[in-house]
Amino acid sequence: MAHAHAGDGDLPNPDITVSRGSAKRSYPFQGDETLEFIPLGAGNEVGRSCCLLKFKGKTIMFDCGTHPGFRGEEGLPFFDDEKVDAAAIDILLVTHFHVDHTAAVPYFLTQTTFKGKVYMTFPTLAICKLVWSDFIKVSGISEQPGTSLYTDADINEAMDRINVIDYHQQVEVEGVRFWCYNAGHVIGACMFMVEIAGVRVLYTGDYSRLEDRHLMAAEMPTYKVDVLVVESTYGIQTHEPRKSREKQLIDAVESTLMQGGRVLLPVFAIGRAQEILLLLEEHWRNHPELHKYPVICLGAMAKRCTAIYQGYISQMNKRIQNLNDARNPFEFQYIRYITSMSEFHDSRPSVVMASPGMLQSGQSRELFDRWCEHRANAVVITGYCVKNTLAKELLEAQPDVHKLQNGHEVPLKIKVHYISFSAHADFIQTSNFIDELKPSNIILVHGESNMMMQLKKQLQAKYEHSGVGVWSPDNTDTVTLTFHESKVAKVVGSIAVERPRTGATLQGLVLHNNLQLTICSMDEMEDYAGENGGLRNLIQRQLIPFSQPWDVLEFHLSRLFDSIVQVSTDKDAGLKDADKATKEDKKKKKAAAAGDMALRIMDAVTVRKAAPGLIELEWVSNPVHDMVADAVLSVTLQALSNPSTSRAMAKDEAALDQTANIVRTMLAHRFGSAALAPEATGDAAETGGGGEGDVDAAAEASVVRLEVDGHEVRVDVRDETVSCGDADTQKKVEAALKRIMSCMHPYAACSCPTA
Ligand SMILES: [Zn+2]
Ligand SMILES: [Zn+2]
Repeated sequence: MAHAHAGDGDLPNPDITVSRGSAKRSYPFQGDETLEFIPLGAGNEVGRSCCLLKFKGKTIMFDCGTHPGFRGEEGLPFFDDEKVDAAAIDILLVTHFHVDHTAAVPYFLTQTTFKGKVYMTFPTLAICKLVWSDFIKVSGISEQPGTSLYTDADINEAMDRINVIDYHQQVEVEGVRFWCYNAGHVIGACMFMVEIAGVRVLYTGDYSRLEDRHLMAAEMPTYKVDVLVVESTYGIQTHEPRKSREKQLIDAVESTLMQGGRVLLPVFAIGRAQEILLLLEEHWRNHPELHKYPVICLGAMAKRCTAIYQGYISQMNKRIQNLNDARNPFEFQYIRYITSMSEFHDSRPSVVMASPGMLQSGQSRELFDRWCEHRANAVVITGYCVKNTLAKELLEAQPDVHKLQNGHEVPLKIKVHYISFSAHADFIQTSNFIDELKPSNIILVHGESNMMMQLKKQLQAKYEHSGVGVWSPDNTDTVTLTFHESKVAKVVGSIAVERPRTGATLQGLVLHNNLQLTICSMDEMEDYAGENGGLRNLIQRQLIPFSQPWDVLEFHLSRLFDSIVQVSTDKDAGLKDADKATKEDKKKKKAAAAGDMALRIMDAVTVRKAAPGLIELEWVSNPVHDMVADAVLSVTLQALSNPSTSRAMAKDEAALDQTANIVRTMLAHRFGSAALAPEATGDAAETGGGGEGDVDAAAEASVVRLEVDGHEVRVDVRDETVSCGDADTQKKVEAALKRIMSCMHPYAACSCPTA
């Protein structure tokens, strides 16, 4: 039963069956099948993207950003929610360098119990370092010292823990397989495909399916996905064509300059800024009449980022690569970089690009405060603006007065333009993407709730008939999806040479390794069971017909193996530490007498009675244990086929003691009499066997003395003789001894030549 909380109760039947293969469930498969998706940020909002995916005991975190509309810890994702156990998160996958997707990464890596692995693309990693340093500086401006979320030292520590992943490179971490696709949007942006136990989840991050001046369009994954987690920033809006938006921007800039005004382009220093710089550079190149107006890129970060851009031209589109053949497209002729505000001489109409993009603080806010009282000036907002920012307020409330950062209120006369250059998918792109991808479930994130709700309704209407579930969870709400028991197993090796026919039987061994199922032939098990002891959990059991007494087997095994420990017949105990077994020695000995024992050989193989005439060998497969098992099997078969076993055993000095013990126990049991301790002297002489002083240990060990019907009886198991003062008692004991010995050594009387 799948369900989402937070008012999603009216959704279509959410039960899901993943059934792409025909493998039947005839093997044990542990763990539940429930997939959980929990946004810790970006749930019905844009900002602090951070989502958890839990499935099969694995937890993946997608993105780890801050909310640009909040300061300090308020802007963090909901890390303190009870559903979050940072230490249990296995992998963090980061889609692109934007603050709302990455700015919390150094915090999460250095100030929580998270110990997992982190992956992002090369350009994302390179730019993140700059973004994070800038984030501390910008957030430090209006905050008390020491209240920054992290320090430069934390950034360096975080950088050391990050792994890079290339587009289409497959990585596997403890059964979780993932790879990524180019997502357009900004340089290095990717969407992640995660596969756990055959279930695929695609997390798009921010993506754009349109090519622009420098970026490729987002790729179309060729795999079918079970769950699509998709951004919904623009809801059901559709973008104007790029050419028309470019013209609007140029018109706004030119008309402002002609009227003697200044143009402020608040934009995040990296990403979309480079797209707009490419446009302005080309326009200025083609229009010499504009050369008297300076185009300025303010801030240290933009210039440094441009160097990174130059390094990743190979990841950009054909247009940029062709340009690059002639000259470096990011070495601008008509754009000047200025690092600090003090270098900027604001003496004439100009175009200034400054960060941040939503005018929260920093250089763009400083210029806005300076220019906002004059109607000749213009501010052109080109990016998506989130709640709680000045840019959003300008667009929505269109206020007449503005409160400067110093607290003074001034009339607001500056012209405000909004021309979107943000590379997010619009409704047409999203619909086409979903049509092609055909996911079974769609989870919407990264959108203001009204935008998201409109998109959700449209998608539900469109895909209702095909049973696709659409979800839009709030932060910390859980979307729960259940994947039923059909499983996909990969058939490999010789049994995969011919395509299996429907209805035909496929014989092989099912290997359950790292959440993935593989079927291979028995002979090829070693090849497919995975590296690093993939066979560690493979328990082998083999049944062997064995009609000889248990102690015969024990005797033969003891001649070959140094270490044989008696263990409980409890199946699990046989695989446990042999030391533990010896601790319960007393109990075990008692059980041994009753014939209930199992033997643990070389701490590798357990031999136990499985049924009358049947013994079982059990071992955890690995090369050493397999070898011991082979040897045990060979000894067992030899003991079975060699009729001289018993005689050899009877003559074995060590075995005599054991035989005597068994005889003593059985006679005492039969006659209900007390066994007597053997006398220290005289026994050897009384037996008459070689009494010339060589009182051998065997003679000592082979004698059993007990009291039967008030008469003292002496039994020598070596020659199977009974002596007693009372003839009747002697006869009785002789008969009993004969039965006992024939039971213990059924082949003793055989006249076959001994080996
Ligand atoms: Zn973004
Ligand atoms: Zn974003």
